[in-house]
Amino acid sequence: MRCDHCANDVPDGVFCTRCGAHQGTTGEVGDAKNRTYRYAAHPSEHVVQPSVFTTIFPHLGHQKIHEFRWAFAVGLAGIAILYIAGLITAAILVAAFLVPVLYLIYLYEAQVYRDEPATVLGFTIGGGALIGLVLTVIERLVYNPYANIGNPLRGAGISVGAVLFVGLLVPVVQEVLKPLPALILPNRADFPETIDGLVFGIAAGLGFSLAESLVTFSNALANLPAHMAPGNWIFDLATLAVFQPLMQGSAAGIIVAAIWRYRRGRLGRREIGGVVTAVVAHVAFAMGTQLLKNAQASQLFVLVWQAAIVGGLLVYVRYLLHHALLEEAAHMGYAETVCPNCHMHIVASGFCPSCGVALTAAPTAVKRARKPRSEART
Ligand SMILES: [Zn+2]
Ligand SMILES: [Zn+2]
Repeated sequence: MRCDHCANDVPDGVFCTRCGAHQGTTGEVGDAKNRTYRYAAHPSEHVVQPSVFTTIFPHLGHQKIHEFRWAFAVGLAGIAILYIAGLITAAILVAAFLVPVLYLIYLYEAQVYRDEPATVLGFTIGGGALIGLVLTVIERLVYNPYANIGNPLRGAGISVGAVLFVGLLVPVVQEVLKPLPALILPNRADFPETIDGLVFGIAAGLGFSLAESLVTFSNALANLPAHMAPGNWIFDLATLAVFQPLMQGSAAGIIVAAIWRYRRGRLGRREIGGVVTAVVAHVAFAMGTQLLKNAQASQLFVLVWQAAIVGGLLVYVRYLLHHALLEEAAHMGYAETVCPNCHMHIVASGFCPSCGVALTAAPTAVKRARKPRSEART
């Protein structure tokens, strides 16, 4: 069969295994070459869909994604139970660790680090946590908006200077420093794909977020009684368990992925736009949260604001990753392999001819099991 888009002779299939284009495109709308209705890491979803797991855990197939969703839901239920029981300090700890620990399990599951777990984990999650620790301690020495945590009057009477510090200076400095550990990774040349850079950036961002949360809530952790009336803590817990780590992780992921693209010789609208988007979204998240709290707005409204920012960031991650996968998978040789997404035995180059998933997004074990073929079987 001849691909309608790249004009290569390719094995029969719904998708071109060389360029990933959708063949025929009967019944589906949109551009078959860029196929934004078939996200390259998870073709059953649209690129513009603020889905958490298929975005920041891009190596996982259907089944594994499902397991991680369950684990996340169980973690959130655990936090809710601890909250209702009045065990606030325990709930804070579970909330701070939930997403970073899931990410650690994901890195192990997909073996993203290949043969060097210690170096990669140390330079991403570990490095992020170290920078998060140092930076947050410095921030709190300069100004601590959480000094009166648990006090009903907290947030009242904060100055313009404080809002600019928390809402503008801190986010910008964090976005500059947070990606550093992933960028100075000593064996980075072994991980040339943008998807690797993205995952390392997210890991560094989550390490950072964990350290930041622990420092931020250290007062509360040290001073709150183990058991107390639940109060309004559920809102802070939701930010801590879900929105804060997802914002820090995806913003750092976008920046590191953009720099990975730059190292591959690509610097376009998407990459520059990515860095700008990450910084602006972080500023909007922090500044918006601060202003809404100062205005004594409903805490639920603060969460809606944070969720909107995180949703936008996730969609940008997918947009960046989708186009990077379409470009980078196109240069793979033919091999016999099992599709990590639809589990068919296939002879393929960069994309599964049957479901269209980019095979550079396969877990390392699947990539290693590829048996090279000199030419395509049609
Ligand atoms: Zn093609
Ligand atoms: Zn497939």
